[in-house]
Amino acid sequence: MSGRRHLWPALEWDRALEAVGAADEVCLACHVSPDGDALGSMLALAQALRDLGKRCYASFGQPFAVPASLRFLPGQDLLVEPGRMPAAPTLMITLDAAGADRLGPLADNAARADELIVIDHHESNTGFGGVRLVDPAAAATSVLVDELIRRLGATLTSDIALGLYAGLASDTGSFKYPCTTPEVHELAARLIDAGVRPDAVGRELWDRAPFGYLQVLAGALGRARLERDAAGGLGLVWTTISRADREAQSVPYDQLEGVIDQLRRADEAEVAVVLKETDDGDWYVSTRSKGGVDVGRACVTLGGGGHRLAAAFSTRTDPAVTIDRLRAVLRGPLDDAEISA
Ligand code: MN
Repeated sequence: MSGRRHLWPALEWDRALEAVGAADEVCLACHVSPDGDALGSMLALAQALRDLGKRCYASFGQPFAVPASLRFLPGQDLLVEPGRMPAAPTLMITLDAAGADRLGPLADNAARADELIVIDHHESNTGFGGVRLVDPAAAATSVLVDELIRRLGATLTSDIALGLYAGLASDTGSFKYPCTTPEVHELAARLIDAGVRPDAVGRELWDRAPFGYLQVLAGALGRARLERDAAGGLGLVWTTISRADREAQSVPYDQLEGVIDQLRRADEAEVAVVLKETDDGDWYVSTRSKGGVDVGRACVTLGGGGHRLAAAFSTRTDPAVTIDRLRAVLRGPLDDAEISA
């Protein structure tokens, strides 16, 4: 891929195979508040390593609760609470985490690991870890995990394929985002061949929710504001969901991931933003761009990370102030060089 902003070093497959080959025990961790790619690729790799005879622990930082939409993923018997992970692992592997701080309390375990393999595809990856399988051109971390599993010689079982497919479908927005390359569809084909049922995965990930969720969504859409002049005149649409909004309908925080996909449909806005209050009173700010604005750069400026078209940051600041700050750093349109980058 030409014209990328950074020159990314080659992926260290040989060193990764050597480290895994030498280990009897492997600790895996994905980023906090795991999505389909983080949890799906971690559980897929954990099952493959178990099949190769390794003792495996897989975890993620607090809150240690698998989101309702991901409870169908196989391999959850390998999950342990973060406090029960070995404090100083011989080999640790992190998945879909752009920086050590995305691991929550498991960043300490990673810092003390004898060997740390980082598998990720975020442009904003900080460069942490000793052995790096980091490729921003990969559509999902699960693409890299598929390659690792293949090189390790593990069998692609239907359970492993299901985790990888959940990652691939999640990070391509169900095969709709620009990262949906021929290679993505080829991997999807192999995973379906291995036993994945796309209709069942799609229903679990996107097409079901309790009635209360629809009420919360209706409130969020009702509060949405459209600012046509923002984002360099390309338009911004944003809304908020407070803890009280969702507690009134008994909807947990992790069920709100799909709200932004409804909001971003607005024709008049290039950028969509949803500010969601967590149980701790932090505000998680999700952003999406349709292609003309680099929301990743804006979110990095505000202390977060992500991709050019999908990024996020956390803050304790009041939503009205946060939107002011975000409006100030959102600029567009991208010039041609940036779009091809
Ligand atoms: Mn990902």
